[in-house]
Amino acid sequence: MAFPIDHDMHCHTCLSSCSGDAAQSVQALLEHARRCGYTLQCVTDHLWDSLVPGSSNWYAPQDIGHVKRNLPLPHDDQVRLVFGCETEFCGGTKLGLDPRNYDQFDFIVIPPNHFHMKDFVRPSTCDTEEKIADLFVERLEDISRLDLPWRKVGIAHMICGLIFTEGDPLRVYELVDEKRFRAVMGKYARFGAGIEINLASFFPGWQDHEDAVLRLYRLAKEEGCKFYLASDAHHPAELDLVPDRAPAVVEALGLTEDDRFILA
Ligand SMILES: [Zn+2]
Ligand SMILES: [Zn+2]
Repeated sequence: MAFPIDHDMHCHTCLSSCSGDAAQSVQALLEHARRCGYTLQCVTDHLWDSLVPGSSNWYAPQDIGHVKRNLPLPHDDQVRLVFGCETEFCGGTKLGLDPRNYDQFDFIVIPPNHFHMKDFVRPSTCDTEEKIADLFVERLEDISRLDLPWRKVGIAHMICGLIFTEGDPLRVYELVDEKRFRAVMGKYARFGAGIEINLASFFPGWQDHEDAVLRLYRLAKEEGCKFYLASDAHHPAELDLVPDRAPAVVEALGLTEDDRFILA
């Protein structure tokens, strides 16, 4: 069976500071999901839990009380709406969500590569493609050592331009150490975490760079990882990234129904 393009598991609403778009409401997400025949739509606004010290000024107002303003999510007979979050990871054990609050969310998206947040997520001394590739795999390893509710955890945008905004992201993906990357992906596969296919990362013409763009996904697949689709939309027009771009990516990766991450 084909990999179903019937879900979007990483989406922002107007509550995320980088959206702030009144049109990007839960209702807009739901209506789009209904139009596209989805069975699952997650709401994952940016989050830094106030129980965790060391927030940035940008994250501080985006705490649990803030993102919960979207609750209760509407009930829908066709689309399962799931309340999640996209928290932050700064290395070591510094996750922007305290374990006491894991239960507040039904899906927890963890970005390993928000490296545009210099001297918060990434040390500014880490400034070459080689160092970034190394930091990226180290962050994936650090996350894998956390005691997380893995079956409701998604590893966000494995490839993403934010990984190196002043350099060459494609070169970074090529430089990621294969042995270490395979080992950590094998762990995620055993834990039952989901690996995100973030369609915003699949820029027009990505097929001209297919080997670099798909490299990490192909390795993850070989290690047995399960995948989910995401638009990472901040505005209504971006919700179409899933129906517009996912079919080509799913085909290029040869994904089938067996490769789908299932959220309990
Ligand atoms: Zn992100
Ligand atoms: Zn996001």
